[in-house]
Amino acid sequence: MSFFNDLGKKISETSQGAVNKTKAMAETSRLNSAINDCKNKIDMAYMEIGNFYVNKYGENPNPEVADKVNMIKELEGNIKNMQEEIRKINGYAVCPKCGKTVRNDAFFCDGCGEKLRSQEPDNRCAFCGATLQPNASFCTKCGKPRNAAPQPQPQPQPQPPYQPPYGGQPFNGQPKMNVDSQPVNNTENVKEPAPAKKICPVCGYELDASQEICLRCGEKL
Ligand SMILES: [Zn+2]
Ligand SMILES: [Zn+2]
Ligand SMILES: [Zn+2]
Repeated sequence: MSFFNDLGKKISETSQGAVNKTKAMAETSRLNSAINDCKNKIDMAYMEIGNFYVNKYGENPNPEVADKVNMIKELEGNIKNMQEEIRKINGYAVCPKCGKTVRNDAFFCDGCGEKLRSQEPDNRCAFCGATLQPNASFCTKCGKPRNAAPQPQPQPQPQPPYQPPYGGQPFNGQPKMNVDSQPVNNTENVKEPAPAKKICPVCGYELDASQEICLRCGEKL
């Protein structure tokens, strides 16, 4: 009889211990998660203090933290360079005035109108934009003659629905026309472009339809 009593007592103790153990585990994980919340808040606060310090004293940091401050600046510079590299390999640059991402073959920023680089039509192929050799008569990249303006594909219809506005205003960046073979205003037969794209009537550059100036030659569209 006492054997069964002892057994019953042992089972009871064991199950009581299991309950305690479960409670302890639950409580431990609750406290650990509360500790992690505190740690995250501390990390955030340290980060904010660091940002504040570098912004305010980064030019003249305390010698004891100068190493870290300079490391941050160097890494930020590296990030900037690598972002610049990404833009370059994807054909984009950044407007130095407004910071907008622009195509690297554009002469003007379509965000603020800033002139991005000087127009050198005599050194650039009017068709593909490649830089031409000083005395070359033909583009070495696309083979088109140097002084010809891009000629849009002829359209069979006499009155195509799309007619880009063209004021005929002279401007510095206009490629030299081959007067013998081409009319000065060659916009009459412009082939209708794909939707949401348009072609600059002056230099033949393909642009988004929403563009108000040609990003290559600056012509108002
Ligand atoms: Zn800009
Ligand atoms: Zn070319
Ligand atoms: Zn143009």
